Amino acid sequence: MTTTLSDYYQPGWRDHRHTCPACEWQGSSRQMELELHDEQSEYACPQCEFPLLVVLHPDLPQVQAAAAAGNAEAAGQLAILASAPRRG
Ligand SMILES: [Zn+2]
Repeated sequence: MTTTLSDYYQPGWRDHRHTCPACEWQGSSRQMELELHDEQSEYACPQCEFPLLVVLHPDLPQVQAAAAAGNAEAAGQLAILASAPRRG
């Protein structure tokens, strides 16, 4: 089963232990194969490439809300966004 995480700032998901239903590999997202997309990050089993975890990327209001709630990672991302040159 593929787990979809819609709240990027939910604590602990990187270290959550998953079991691959296809080959019974066990491990956290740190050991999985990462494939980055614009809208989401996909983590697959390092042994058989079964997709185990999909993390939806936060949009700006979510980053702002998390930063306002004291999330250090969100605050850092907000700073990067604020310093990035705007397009158009
Ligand atoms: Zn597997």
